[in-house]
Amino acid sequence: MFSLACISVGLLGASLPVVTANSPSDILHRDVVVIGGGASGAYAAVRLRDDFNKSIALIEKQDILGGMVDTYVDNKTGATYDFGVQSFLNVSKAKEFFDRFNISVSSNSSSPTLITEYIDFNTGAEVAFQPPSLTAQITAIAKFLDVIEPWESMLQPGYWNFPAPENIPDDLLIPFGEFLTKYGLEDGTPLMYSTTGLGVGNMSEVATMFVLQSFGWDMARAMTGQMGLFTPTSGGNQALYNAIAKDLGEDVLYSSTVTNSHRTNSSVQLTVRNHKTGKLTQIVARRLLVAIEPTDDNVTPLDLSPFERDTLAKLTYSNEFTGLVDNSIFNTSYYYFNLPSSAAPNHTLVFQDEPMVASFQYTGLEHLFRVMIIGNKTTTSSEAKFLAQTSFDTLLNTGRLSGTELQTQKLNWAAFSTHGPMHARVSVDEVKNGFFQDLYKLQGARSTWWTGGAFSVNFQTKLWEFDEGLIPKILEGL
Ligand SMILES: Cc1cc2nc3c(=O)[nH]c(=O)nc-3n(C[C@H](O)[C@H](O)[C@H](O)COP(=O)(O)OP(=O)(O)OC[C@H]3O[C@@H](n4cnc5c(N)ncnc54)[C@H](O)[C@@H]3O)c2cc1C
Repeated sequence: MFSLACISVGLLGASLPVVTANSPSDILHRDVVVIGGGASGAYAAVRLRDDFNKSIALIEKQDILGGMVDTYVDNKTGATYDFGVQSFLNVSKAKEFFDRFNISVSSNSSSPTLITEYIDFNTGAEVAFQPPSLTAQITAIAKFLDVIEPWESMLQPGYWNFPAPENIPDDLLIPFGEFLTKYGLEDGTPLMYSTTGLGVGNMSEVATMFVLQSFGWDMARAMTGQMGLFTPTSGGNQALYNAIAKDLGEDVLYSSTVTNSHRTNSSVQLTVRNHKTGKLTQIVARRLLVAIEPTDDNVTPLDLSPFERDTLAKLTYSNEFTGLVDNSIFNTSYYYFNLPSSAAPNHTLVFQDEPMVASFQYTGLEHLFRVMIIGNKTTTSSEAKFLAQTSFDTLLNTGRLSGTELQTQKLNWAAFSTHGPMHARVSVDEVKNGFFQDLYKLQGARSTWWTGGAFSVNFQTKLWEFDEGLIPKILEGL
């Protein structure tokens, strides 16, 4: 585990702060230090340590691993409900990763069958939207898959093969609504949007290549029955990350973030602070793997070069929030879904602009409803909760919930989760100016490698695939 123990601090850490016997900080020597214990970071940590015999340290801000996985456990019954990540795409070796932790999985969905109520959450007006039949939607998605198939390797599982500006297919850069119209794929949009497309907000307006990162090849395969989706049979999705946490043991530094760093072409030195205990740990490693969204806040402690800073600063994000509310005034047969009134009677390309509450969806557990909130790049957690309350008030006061009386009620939050910035993207002009070529120049520079949604795509098992491609590069010369 500690294969670097022989490398002295003097060799790698000339500029490390002096640590004396009485110093409150420890020094760890590792082959690879990973920042972020979500999908991409936790997976890479396991593979590097357990399969490639490299010593690792994993720095995680929260006190559990798993990032966007949110498993709610009902205290009374022990029943679980996943209100963040719903299921795993069965890509390449995804199931094997569950097998190694003895976690059985199944493709059976226990979701209740619900009636979708389309409502404009801004006004409370019912929206008489008639989606195309399920068959028509699936047929359109199959056609969509045919159209996008040639571009898969340009975007997935990362941007390694993204074409030079002059070779980027025009279709990737036009707004997605225009793209769907061009190819006659409008019938597929209700499923595309309600499953994962809504993460980018008003998906009709977003450049096609970024919507494809949100609903693309594998989601189209899953919707058309060409790829499976699965979940653990017990313990919810968190079961996997709890097993990883147990496996990695003391190699994870929880409740911790990097406060300072010094990165060179041969090593990295990080100062890590536990925000519960205040304890400082110095980590000297030969490689750094960054597995968090490279937002300003996250990368400021990473002594960025001007080029790194300027490149990462071009990224913009949606902010996503999910939660569970417990209000008996909701109808447990319903999936309350937010669409603008102009979507009626059958305009499939019309969506709400973010920030917005996407839906209140019955979970099957007592009176718990899952809430999805899509924010813009500045939406905070308190704004997201306020927005949910405002939408709820509108539904209540327009009789969409109880049907009659005016009432005031507070949403009772049983759980709330801030997923923060995700669905990283840049302007079409930046894409044409070679943004992705610049972004990938960061890979490997100053002993630092980058994974996670911004460098790949926002699906758990797809990120594992991306990690698989990255790991040999990280290991080179190690
Ligand atoms: C509501 C919702 C539903 C989703 N459903 C699915 C689904 O059904 N299937 C699917 O495949 N994908 C789903 N996704 C997407 C998927 O979860 C993400 O793409 C994936 O988690 C991204 O992985 P990541 O490693 O980039 O980041 P994350 O998984 O978010 O991990 C980042 C980790 O880093 C930690 N961290 C953040 N900042 C710091 C810091 N400064 N220092 C230290 N640690 C830090 C975080 O606490 C977190 O643990 C969903 C996402 C959301 C929001």
